[in-house]
Amino acid sequence: MKYDDNNIFARILRGDLPCQKISENEYYLAFHDLYPRAPVHVLIIPKGPYGDAFDFHNQATPDEIVGLYKGVNSVIENLETSEGYRLISNTGHHGGQEVPHYHIHLLAGQKLNKHSIA
Ligand code: 5GP
Repeated sequence: MKYDDNNIFARILRGDLPCQKISENEYYLAFHDLYPRAPVHVLIIPKGPYGDAFDFHNQATPDEIVGLYKGVNSVIENLETSEGYRLISNTGHHGGQEVPHYHIHLLAGQKLNKHSIA
């Protein structure tokens, strides 16, 4: 997919739009979803310009891939997830993806409906 430099998450990464940051490193940024669907609803995104999961796994460097997923673990360790959590990555039109920058939803803090989506 051709990357759209003006998507909301690209603008957050550039500092053009605010976010409620949780943590970051060289490779990832984690922040609260603006419209949370669970008591804990965090978005974890790579800092590189990847539109979806396939682009990220296909084009990112090994350091970028490890850096993002270590970020996911860091968020899991530091938030209230002791009773479990759900990771979701919506991809493309059928997957319900709205923002065309790869992101992982982390939902936690209550028993989640089997079919709930983020
Ligand atoms: P998608 O539907 O693409 O999987 O997820 C996009 C997510 O971004 C949605 O859960 C939506 O609530 C969240 N979102 C949309 N705009 C903003 C924003 O400006 N700031 C933050 N923090 N989250 C946003």
